[in-house]
Amino acid sequence: MPHVNAAGPHGVPRDSIHSFTAMPAVPVAIGLGANIGDRLGRLEDACRALDSMLADQRCSAVYESEPMYLEDQPPFLNACCAGRTMMPARSLLEALQAIERGAGRSPGGRRYGPRELDLDLLLYGDHVIEEAGLQVPHPRMTERAFVLWPLAEIAGDRLHPESGETIVRMAAALPRDGLRLHAPALCAPRAAE
Ligand code: ADP
Ligand code: MG
Repeated sequence: MPHVNAAGPHGVPRDSIHSFTAMPAVPVAIGLGANIGDRLGRLEDACRALDSMLADQRCSAVYESEPMYLEDQPPFLNACCAGRTMMPARSLLEALQAIERGAGRSPGGRRYGPRELDLDLLLYGDHVIEEAGLQVPHPRMTERAFVLWPLAEIAGDRLHPESGETIVRMAAALPRDGLRLHAPALCAPRAAE
């Protein structure tokens, strides 16, 4: 009787072909922020760039809020995008950083200071990653109303992998009154094909 793992085309074991083709894309969430220059234009450009990298992208509305950590700087616009990707988390972070640089952000700027564009990898499936330069879930998302409220619009039922709480419940624990609606969703939901 032939072995079930007999080689498939090109000598690749059938099991590995199966596990590759069946590998599901990972659902991810990304936080967007900007507080210098054409803030909305930068978020729109970033959303378009993300759309070319993510399947089934969904975007929240855009909110304005006062800066949280360093108060002596202009107000921020923030939004969130969600979608699915086959990219490893580190490659996705590097792609986000390349988009930030393309928007004019220079690396090594002041922590929490003014920025042309900030793209944070908030959630990568239910993975918990603690590496140099990459922590997922994003460690400060739980204290940021400007992250959790927009994220609740597009991924409210998702569970935070560490607390086990839904995003919508975590958002409800933070005051929403500092968020001013600034613009409708960056990307409109696609019509069914
Ligand atoms: P914040 O995102 O909290 O506003 P910064 O954008 O100034 O702060 O932080 C940038 C640094 O954070 C980068 O050096 C990046 O490597 C690191 N970092 C760690 N985890 C993440 C993540 N999940 N998403 C984005 N940047 C991250
Ligand atoms: Mg950041």
